[in-house]
Amino acid sequence: MKFDEIAGQEGAINTLLHNIGKNKVASAYLFSGPHGTGKSTVAEIFAKALLCQQSGSESDIPCGKCKSCAMFETNSNPDFFGLKKEGAIEYEKSGREIIINQMRDLTNALSLKSYLGGRKVAVIYDTDTMKGAASNSFLKTLEEPPEKTVIILISANPQGLLPTIVSRCRVIPFVPMEPHKLARILIRRLGISEDEAIRVANLADGCVGRALGGVDEVRAIDDEAVSLMSRIGELRADEAINFALGWKDRRKDLPVLLARMAEVLRLSRRRNSAFSSAIMPEVLEKFDRTPGERVDECFDLLMESAPALWSNNPNVQLFLEALIFNMQSVLQKGKRIGTTYS
Ligand SMILES: [Zn+2]
Repeated sequence: MKFDEIAGQEGAINTLLHNIGKNKVASAYLFSGPHGTGKSTVAEIFAKALLCQQSGSESDIPCGKCKSCAMFETNSNPDFFGLKKEGAIEYEKSGREIIINQMRDLTNALSLKSYLGGRKVAVIYDTDTMKGAASNSFLKTLEEPPEKTVIILISANPQGLLPTIVSRCRVIPFVPMEPHKLARILIRRLGISEDEAIRVANLADGCVGRALGGVDEVRAIDDEAVSLMSRIGELRADEAINFALGWKDRRKDLPVLLARMAEVLRLSRRRNSAFSSAIMPEVLEKFDRTPGERVDECFDLLMESAPALWSNNPNVQLFLEALIFNMQSVLQKGKRIGTTYS
């Protein structure tokens, strides 16, 4: 991969290219930003560029042709070290983490001469899992960096790192993209509709990596929403409760579910809309027997309840149960049953 294949991180990439071009490469970098913004991919391209044996113009780096680049591409460059969390699970809750022995091995490896005669580069992928002894051991390496060595730390939560570590790194921020910008990339790369691209972009919080992997996820949530709405009139209480239960740990997906539910209601009122082919006509027919003002009221109810999700931090299961029972009451009787979204 090359830098120009990365979308939305021009600021970070320009800084890195500038550092290489002006020969002002720092001994340690901290790539900080949310998951899915391309930190690891950019770190690998940067590492490859730092190790590249050609000294071409910025657009040619990494060259992809020299011995170092060729070895990098087959994961066999002896001057590159990638460190991921490993080791025994020391505490039940902490899961896997970067452990002290890995840090010692890395420090030793970096203190040796480079194999190809240039730099040595280490990427620490799971910096956020580095704690206690491993952290302290790593700090010593940062304080006395081995010659011609570059260390790149990747962190989604730099506030959790030792301040003494952060202060020794050049921080490169990675920012989420504007959803509409990200949607354009998704349309171009995946050939999906604008409507779908916008929903995927919103679900992914503007993170390209997450968005590219998120299309199937959004389609699955869409199906759940359409299937719920197609049966909302006849749904039994235990079925509604089970549906809500299945969503109890899926808070981050809720906006997609609610948006699709709202869309079904909106489309059922505007059957000739350009989008109506997106939803099976038999779903919309279910609402034909319901007076239009009840469908409108149901739509309003959905729109009014959604903000409670973000302001009150409610229990998702209870929120959905209350919403479904309320929607049923509005569709069947034309009136709401109290609202207790807490
Ligand atoms: Zn090269």
